[in-house]
Amino acid sequence: MTMQKNVRLRLFSNLVILYMLLALGWWSFLLFTKNRDAFIAKAELQKLVMIANQEIANDAAFLQTPIYQDYLRKYNRQEWMIMGEALVFAIILVIGIWFINRGYNQQVQAAQQSRNFLLSITHELKSPLASIQLVLETLQKRQLKEDQIKKLSKNALKDTNRLTTLVNDLLLAARVETAYQPHVETLRLDQLLETLIEKMKQFHPSAHFEFRQNQEEIFLEGDRTGITSVALNLLENAVKYSSAQPAIITTLHQKQNTIWIEFSDNGIGIPDPEKLKVFNRFYRIGNEDTRQTKGTGLGLYIVHQIIKAHEGTISIKDNVPKGTIFTITLPA
Ligand code: ADP
Repeated sequence: MTMQKNVRLRLFSNLVILYMLLALGWWSFLLFTKNRDAFIAKAELQKLVMIANQEIANDAAFLQTPIYQDYLRKYNRQEWMIMGEALVFAIILVIGIWFINRGYNQQVQAAQQSRNFLLSITHELKSPLASIQLVLETLQKRQLKEDQIKKLSKNALKDTNRLTTLVNDLLLAARVETAYQPHVETLRLDQLLETLIEKMKQFHPSAHFEFRQNQEEIFLEGDRTGITSVALNLLENAVKYSSAQPAIITTLHQKQNTIWIEFSDNGIGIPDPEKLKVFNRFYRIGNEDTRQTKGTGLGLYIVHQIIKAHEGTISIKDNVPKGTIFTITLPA
């Protein structure tokens, strides 16, 4: 749906809502006045009858009669009824409007996310494919020296890795959504994290990685592939959304039945309103047209799903002086 159509639809539904609220107010007012007129007419008639029958002497005496008191009670009761019903109706209407608005906003957000996803996935798939194709064409057409061939194939290999990671992420995201069952085994979590951090050091020699733990051996009943994916996603993000000299500290500690893993970086940080949203599927901060970094918005979604499947939690807080800390808790 185009933006303009959206705005028009929104305007139209707001007008309908406004009309309904005004109509409700108008009908309540009308009922009030009709009810009052009926009460006055009925009392007036009764008074005339009673004066004619010489049951009462004057107007003031009529106000004391049980029959007038009864009319008055009924009239008051009806007034309260009208007010109560109008209130209930208005509350229901407002709740309904709130639900409709929420649904509408969710739809708009989902559409924006799908658009972002399509844009980024197209870019992410096309650019490595294009460069692999270019390398292969060059190799086919030209006689190159050995070191040139080495350099080109190294680049092509890098792009192939990028594509593999992307395809794996897409498959994993589809799997965690529908059929992810952690393949549980006893893991030496400290060793697993240490190995992954060593791997990260090799891939990102300019980044500073540190690993801290509060006790020698920390065991986790968990899925090796899943936990590996969680750690790699968070570590890769820490590098990707960082300053020129990323400093990434991973802390692992256990206290009684809970294991804490913290990944802290000195990067660009995540603003408060985005802290929960980044776990949504395809969600990326900012706009696809202006964003510098590459990605699909699937990483943190996958991380969250895997942690949930392990009955753990994940949260985000700001690092000091800048950057982000992801904290994971898992049952030991
Ligand atoms: P992707 O990295 O593919 O965009 P993710 O799901 O991994 O997707 O991350 C979602 C968004 O959260 C990112 O686009 C980025 O804006 C933000 N983000 C994730 N990790 C960090 C981090 N360590 N520092 C700052 N921003 C981050």
